[in-house]
Amino acid sequence: EKAALAAYRLVAPKTKDGRPVLVAANIGGERDIGPALQAGAQGVGLFRTEFLFMEARHLPSEDDQEAVYRRVLQAFAPHHVVVRTLDIGGDKPVAGIEFPKEENPFLGWRGVRMCLDRPDVFKPQIRALLRAATQGSLKVMIPMIADIGELRAVQAIVRDCAAELAAEGKPHGKFDLGIMIETPAAAWMADELAQEAAFFSIGTNDLTQYIMAADRTNPKVASLNRADHPAVLRAIAHICAAAKTAGIPVAICGEAAANLDLTKTFIDLGLDELSMSPAAILRAKKHITEIGL
Ligand code: PEP
Ligand code: MG
Repeated sequence: EKAALAAYRLVAPKTKDGRPVLVAANIGGERDIGPALQAGAQGVGLFRTEFLFMEARHLPSEDDQEAVYRRVLQAFAPHHVVVRTLDIGGDKPVAGIEFPKEENPFLGWRGVRMCLDRPDVFKPQIRALLRAATQGSLKVMIPMIADIGELRAVQAIVRDCAAELAAEGKPHGKFDLGIMIETPAAAWMADELAQEAAFFSIGTNDLTQYIMAADRTNPKVASLNRADHPAVLRAIAHICAAAKTAGIPVAICGEAAANLDLTKTFIDLGLDELSMSPAAILRAKKHITEIGL
């Protein structure tokens, strides 16, 4: 079986009726580059940058980050790499960021909310990404968007950082700026968000926990925490329709992307990309090619 799957490594999968679907990798750092390439990942659909911050004893500098992003982009070129800006909250410790104790960390000061309050943390990451963007096909996405004002605030920071780099004479490139859709607020407002975001990536792990009001870490409510619940699938359908109307690409990067029972549904809804752990990629590629008319 392993040998049969390996045959899909270089395949760019299409359904039998000719719909191409990108199968990309979720990575957490450079150690995942090898396994992702080995599995034939068509780029990276989610680079969770929080590990760069959690594993260090101090905040990673702009230069440290630029070096990592550069190497990841080079490794996957000509495929795109979608880097997610820092998504961290009170449930995970980071040296250099003091998180107040919160009653509800999943509803608290995390992701883009924290980044917008801490330009000293956020701007070095954006500057590092702009500098690395010369090395390949970079896309950047913002986690935990709940309001269009957050997207506009990040767009303004990106413009400021690009202007600073230009004034300093530092080489830099551009990237498409997209958003994760993982809050019910963003799902409901997908039409408006699609006018201003370059792409959507649906985070089904958080979207499911917030729609179902079922903590993704609590086994007692695991039976409710299902991405295949009609309430979640209906939200995904709405998000995809909004993306299609606006003409922007839409991906899934939550764990549901690797659920083969949902692949056909996702393709029928118009998903352009499924991003998953490297271990799931070959099986997903094979499955896509077997989806019939
Ligand atoms: C998600 O929420 O589905 C997601 C991909 O992000 P994370 O699991 O890192 O929250
Ligand atoms: Mg998430």
